[in-house]
Amino acid sequence: MGLLSSGTPMSWLDSRKYNEHVRVNGIEQLLNSFESAESRDGDELYWGDEVEYMICEFDEANENVVLSVKHDEVLVQLNTEYQAECDELNVHFHPEYGRFMLEATPAKPYKDFEGAEVERNMQMRRAVAEQKLKKFNDVNLVTPLSLAVFPRMGRDNFTNLKNPWDHKNSASRSLFLPDEIINRHARFPTLTANIRTRRGEKVCINVPVYKDVRTPETDPSIHERDWFVPEDLESAKASKPGYIYMDSMGFGMGCSCLQLTFQAPNINKARYLYDTLLNFAPIFLAATAASPVFKGFLADQDVRWNVIVGAVDDRTPYERSVEPLLPKYNNGYGGIATEDYASTARINKSRYSVVDLYLGGNEFYDSKFNDTEVPINEKVFKRLVDNEKFKLDKDLARHFAHLFIRDPLVIFEERIDQDNETETDHFENIQSTNWQSVRFKVPSQSATPDNKGAPGWRVEFRPMEVQLTDFENAAYSNLIYLLVESILTFDDKINAYMYMSEIWKNMETAHHRDATLKEKFYWKSDFSDLQGKTELLSIDEIFHNHHNGIFAILINPILARKGLIVKSWTELKDNTGNAELVRLYHYLKLISDRASGKLPSFANFIRTYILNHPEYDQTSSVSQRINYDVLHLSYRITHYDDSKNELSAFLGEELAMYLTQNSIL
Ligand code: ADP
Ligand code: MG
Ligand code: MG
Ligand code: MG
Ligand code: MG
Ligand code: MG
Repeated sequence: MGLLSSGTPMSWLDSRKYNEHVRVNGIEQLLNSFESAESRDGDELYWGDEVEYMICEFDEANENVVLSVKHDEVLVQLNTEYQAECDELNVHFHPEYGRFMLEATPAKPYKDFEGAEVERNMQMRRAVAEQKLKKFNDVNLVTPLSLAVFPRMGRDNFTNLKNPWDHKNSASRSLFLPDEIINRHARFPTLTANIRTRRGEKVCINVPVYKDVRTPETDPSIHERDWFVPEDLESAKASKPGYIYMDSMGFGMGCSCLQLTFQAPNINKARYLYDTLLNFAPIFLAATAASPVFKGFLADQDVRWNVIVGAVDDRTPYERSVEPLLPKYNNGYGGIATEDYASTARINKSRYSVVDLYLGGNEFYDSKFNDTEVPINEKVFKRLVDNEKFKLDKDLARHFAHLFIRDPLVIFEERIDQDNETETDHFENIQSTNWQSVRFKVPSQSATPDNKGAPGWRVEFRPMEVQLTDFENAAYSNLIYLLVESILTFDDKINAYMYMSEIWKNMETAHHRDATLKEKFYWKSDFSDLQGKTELLSIDEIFHNHHNGIFAILINPILARKGLIVKSWTELKDNTGNAELVRLYHYLKLISDRASGKLPSFANFIRTYILNHPEYDQTSSVSQRINYDVLHLSYRITHYDDSKNELSAFLGEELAMYLTQNSIL
């Protein structure tokens, strides 16, 4: 997301009459892009990561650490007065959903393998954000942390607002999150309100609570209120015994992740890369698990994903095939216009979800692998396969026709009429609010084959949980980079196709507590098999098996091809004169040791820490004091401070020693 265009976002009830207008013109914009960019070839392997941070304020006087909703001005400064400095350092800061959030990327993408340079760039981003935020430090430390989830978000005193409940929160109407946690830019509160209005109810997220001996049966933070009818009546019906109940977009979009975007040489390779990465997504969600606590309660799951799925689920009860919570206020069609009732369909997934369809377009693909039921927009499909600009094949058309079953969520008054030859906002309006585990990024109309300055066909890998340290984030980024280069290099050999329904099951499994240690995932038995045959394997086996493991099949071959090893990535350690390669060894070692269970995930590490905290009372609740200690611990780990042996406990002695002795900047 770039800096946000200004304008007047319309409320759902005002904007819905333009929904079809946005879709129709969005599809023309897409066709114009295809017409321009379809025959691009030989594009460089540019790529880049996105890291998200939470700005935390350390309130030592009150022994509390909170999300800061008062320092978002830093983002404006980073894009104005500090812009030149940021460009010089090749770092760039972006807005995110939370007013307490920052996102940062390299200003210019990386090209090909860059190894430790990625970590250097990440450290630079963190250093810049820390330094600029320090200027706000009055008494308290204000600092960015790349935490996947803020433990006590939604409980008492979780922000630095004095009196969050002395006024109403009309955008989200949440029982737990004040509207001040939402980015100030009008797009975000409007997005929040429009999702709720379209759905006809607040969003509803129930995460299984970690059952301890004194855990109450129902979520004790739910309380009565009479500000909003019907929203304040919903929790009694929406919450479930044994679950942590959340009711607002911020619980999901307020989580942080690590995303990576890669440019493929041409559209066919982009499709192949996309398809190949689909089953890596659930595996890497599980492998990066970092979310053990939601709304101040230990959860019986380790990752953020389904929380975001629920947090932006704009489907009406009818579309979800369920009864409305309060039939008196919602007839099942939510905020859908009466004249559109007849054309609404059942939709089995949220617009934030695991990917739905393979794109195909290569010899390994067989349409039988798309074995799940996926609704499409028939009108869009027909236009895409039959038009005067560029005819998409059926598999590609189906992908976009599926994205276009959704309504636009925010339309700007000033942006209704667009030039479909040069603008892409209508297309992007739908595309960028289909938040899937992998995204197929389309070039703009200016991306003609000879205009290499405009980005080409890109694939974004989106499932991973952000890690606390830049070392870990660089490790996962480099690993995925190597996977991508391997996939693109050995594209005549690597056939990762399996049935989509198994990928969906893997995504469910990835949520389970300690899935890396305890669960099994569907995984291709043999990467040369054409039939999509799979077996159930542990994460350890998926990474380490000799005949079908990630290291053996994808990582070792590409490292050997680069001349960095003969047989195994572990040889990288022997490059005593080459610090960059030794660092790469440590990246891969981290991932290998996590996959085998030798090292804990952050989720496991923090859950264990909380369960052993002297103030923990076996009710699953994470008190303000425990949250404070978790945040201090997180701060120390972020800065490779091993004074309390926590870094050693978390990353193991060998890595902790390596990190404390080998700083990257
Ligand atoms: P979004 O939020 O839409 O995913 P961002 O701009 O936040 O997009 O992040 C996109 C990432 O893609 C950044 O890391 C950026 O460096 C990288 N990138 C930029 N140009 C290219 C390109 N041509 N090919 C691949 N990656 C690119
Ligand atoms: Mg971004
Ligand atoms: Mg951008
Ligand atoms: Mg982001
Ligand atoms: Mg986000
Ligand atoms: Mg992104």
